[in-house]
Amino acid sequence: MLLHKYLSKLDFSSYEDIIENYRVNIPENFNFAYDVVDEYARTEPDKVAIVWCDESGAEATFTFAQLKEYSDKTANFFKSVGIKRGDPVMLVLKRRYEFWFCILALHKLGAVTIPATHLLTQKDYVYRFNAADIKMIVCVPDPEVLKHVEDAQSKCPSLKHKALICDSKDGWIDFTKSVDEASNVFDRPQGELASQNNDISLLYFTSGTTGMPKMVQHDYVYPLGHIYTARYWQNVIDGGLHLTVADTGWAKAVWGKIYGQWLAGSAVFVYDFDKFVAKDLLAVISRHKVTTFCAPPTIYRFFIKEDLTKLDLSALKYCVVAGEPLNPEVFTQFYNATGIQLKEAFGQTELTVVLSTTKWTEAKPGSMGKPSPGYDIDILDENGNSCQIGEEGQIVIRTDKIKPAGMFGGYYRDEALTNKVWHDDIYYTGDLAWRDEDGYFWFVGRADDVIKSSGYRIGPFEVESALLEHPAVLECAITAVPDEVRGQIVKATVVLAKSYTPSKELIKELQEHVKNVTAPYKYPRVIEFVEELPKTISGKIRRVEIRETDETKK
Ligand code: ATP
Ligand code: MG
Repeated sequence: MLLHKYLSKLDFSSYEDIIENYRVNIPENFNFAYDVVDEYARTEPDKVAIVWCDESGAEATFTFAQLKEYSDKTANFFKSVGIKRGDPVMLVLKRRYEFWFCILALHKLGAVTIPATHLLTQKDYVYRFNAADIKMIVCVPDPEVLKHVEDAQSKCPSLKHKALICDSKDGWIDFTKSVDEASNVFDRPQGELASQNNDISLLYFTSGTTGMPKMVQHDYVYPLGHIYTARYWQNVIDGGLHLTVADTGWAKAVWGKIYGQWLAGSAVFVYDFDKFVAKDLLAVISRHKVTTFCAPPTIYRFFIKEDLTKLDLSALKYCVVAGEPLNPEVFTQFYNATGIQLKEAFGQTELTVVLSTTKWTEAKPGSMGKPSPGYDIDILDENGNSCQIGEEGQIVIRTDKIKPAGMFGGYYRDEALTNKVWHDDIYYTGDLAWRDEDGYFWFVGRADDVIKSSGYRIGPFEVESALLEHPAVLECAITAVPDEVRGQIVKATVVLAKSYTPSKELIKELQEHVKNVTAPYKYPRVIEFVEELPKTISGKIRRVEIRETDETKK
């Protein structure tokens, strides 16, 4: 198995064993496209790499031999328009399989891939094209996307080429035709044109949960950081079928739809949908016999409202969750319905999996798990001292002894911001947590979201979890509202479950409920009912937006 090349030891017997003995061997000039994909094409050409389907029922399967061929053709196409090592190319391809041809082709050329969501507007494109001097863009045939890109182009001198898949239009290169006509022989570049381990392979914009998205840069070694993600956290199966729910515009897609999964031998399952419908996604998982599954908490919050007992989920062996805190209630309900314990992880676009619950460690509902091998993690108080057990502080990563494979190289062209979060060999995650006596980490909130009321510090996550235990609550967000007497007070913005309607009595009932299940001073003094919570394009709750809206209402 290919993993042997990169790990000194493959099977571990316990959490302690993996922490002590997990070592990633990093070859010189590692290039995922040649050293993994083409290597499979050589040794196991018929091994399935991607199983793809969309809402209309279209299906496609790609083996590694086919991926080598298509990525070689695509690399020849990019080369023909002048793309070479170091050139930034943006991909707005949703979950179309051309995304995989393109990212592999760009890796082969040593270029910089910038995946982005199709929901960007003209202003977003202008910002991104200029921030990264983007030379070329490849898009889905979505009229909105094309219009925004065209409107942005005159303000973006670096943008030289626009290509369009599955369609043709004036001013746009016909990607599908050009790739079709390109040669299927592409030789690995040598010398100056070959990618180096330190070259930038990917630029990601973060989710923008707290403010403007930041450009995170990853190098050519980054894929090896995701061996742990796939093999030991997601527990993908060699020969199995793994589904991570994520648009290709977010880093979560490379956590779950390419690198680690293929290194560990699992095929990647792609369901190309426009609107998330829990019932449909569950049916697809059942029909295609997905073996391992990864999604953010919001997906599971909707799953547990469906009748899971009616579905055949017998192929599904392992389910994991990350991206936002998972409320214990969701864990419990999912477990009761499926018998599967959700295994949580904590990470960032800047990092890989930093904390997780593994197959060797029992999940503690509400906890993010324990540190990953290779990461030197601590919790620091405001004075920079290590916190005691039970004491809240900021999660940090110490990089004085090792820089983990997969950790970012800084924010692109923003040294000031990089130095702000990463100095004196300590990287500050901006997230608050505490550690229990067994070494498990418990999320409190983002540093910016923590509420200070009458001298108490209140983490939004705990109150949100308490509220979610009430059957009337589908989703909720806890934020601070300025208050003359208490400094800040706790506000809950609540989306009600079907069959509940807002009322004064319900407000009282929810307040009493929180007082009963958690320390009474944390109860929300203000409750607002809404149809929908403000979220990032990647589906995370934007508490900052609720606070800003409250400000303007004053
Ligand atoms: P931005 O940095 O632009 O505000 P973002 O931080 O949401 O956006 P991502 O890199 O996608 O961008 O998300 C990482 C963040 O998600 C973490 O810093 C943390 O706040 C949150 N997160 C991830 N996993 C978990 C988890 N298991 N529990 C709690 N929070 C989590
Ligand atoms: Mg962030």
